[in-house]
Amino acid sequence: MTDKNGIYLSVDGDDAIRVIIENNIKIQTDRINISEELIGELEFDLSNYEAVLDRIIEETEPLDDIGAYSEEQFSAVSHAALELADGVRENDLTTGVLLRAIVNKLLDFEDDGTAMCLMTTMSNIVDALREPLDTRYILYKYLKSRSEFDTHEEWLRKNILPEGYFFRRDYPCEIINYNLFTNEPKLSQVFFFDNYTDYFVFLFLKFAEQQKRVLECPCCGKLFVPKSNRAEIYCDRILIDGKTCKQIAPKLASKLKQRNDPLLEEYEKAKNRNYKRVERYENADGNSGVMRLTFNEYKAWLDKASEMKRLYLQGKVSAKEFGEFIRA
Ligand SMILES: [Zn+2]
Repeated sequence: MTDKNGIYLSVDGDDAIRVIIENNIKIQTDRINISEELIGELEFDLSNYEAVLDRIIEETEPLDDIGAYSEEQFSAVSHAALELADGVRENDLTTGVLLRAIVNKLLDFEDDGTAMCLMTTMSNIVDALREPLDTRYILYKYLKSRSEFDTHEEWLRKNILPEGYFFRRDYPCEIINYNLFTNEPKLSQVFFFDNYTDYFVFLFLKFAEQQKRVLECPCCGKLFVPKSNRAEIYCDRILIDGKTCKQIAPKLASKLKQRNDPLLEEYEKAKNRNYKRVERYENADGNSGVMRLTFNEYKAWLDKASEMKRLYLQGKVSAKEFGEFIRA
């Protein structure tokens, strides 16, 4: 199981045992919760990643009109790509490992000394680095849309099945002779991943199989999977001073009701408007006529906006300041 670099996964319901291989060595074996891994991944702030990637893309421009590339340019791009993967790894181990695995795999090619060969490899590397950005938006879109349907079946029928092509991928699987959960001898199935999209789409499919609900927390604006079937409105994330949305939000909500505040209505509108912009931008596929607002820029804005809303409700930020922020 250590001849390929990437992540091996053995799944049981919402749990999985994950084995991470780098440089042909097992560097970590851990137990993960599929829902948490999926939702948690969407919360990393990749806006800096996005900026670095834009610079790498600039580096891949040919040196002249006939498409010449230098070895130096190629090695600068490869180096920057691996550095970017390592940078991500500091906060988000999974993504860092998967990016490094795919970039190294792409770099392991037969160099025929032509500019074409360098160009294709650089373009494949850029595509691989783009994957977290594009895939996160798509997964977020599908998970968020789950919150709009009462039943799993309805969501599946209306939002997932019509776009089934996105999920139809090869998920390479091996049979090993022990159970990763118990270490007992047993013929069991492990899936292997060396790229971001396949790994997270696979988690999404395993998540969907369990027919869990997804809700959007009205307090922090983030997605969460309710723990029980009871009516849960707010999430369990720590919002401030060790208190969770669930603990803080009801108090804020009653303030909100008392005020009947037009600014809060404006906040909701700004949130929807910006999300619509993201949808337009992400679906435009590089069409330059569309205003730029990437999913990651939106997520960063949303985190800040919901914090501003809370501070405003607590009287720590003025109406003027809060209004200016949401209108910007
Ligand atoms: Zn929350």
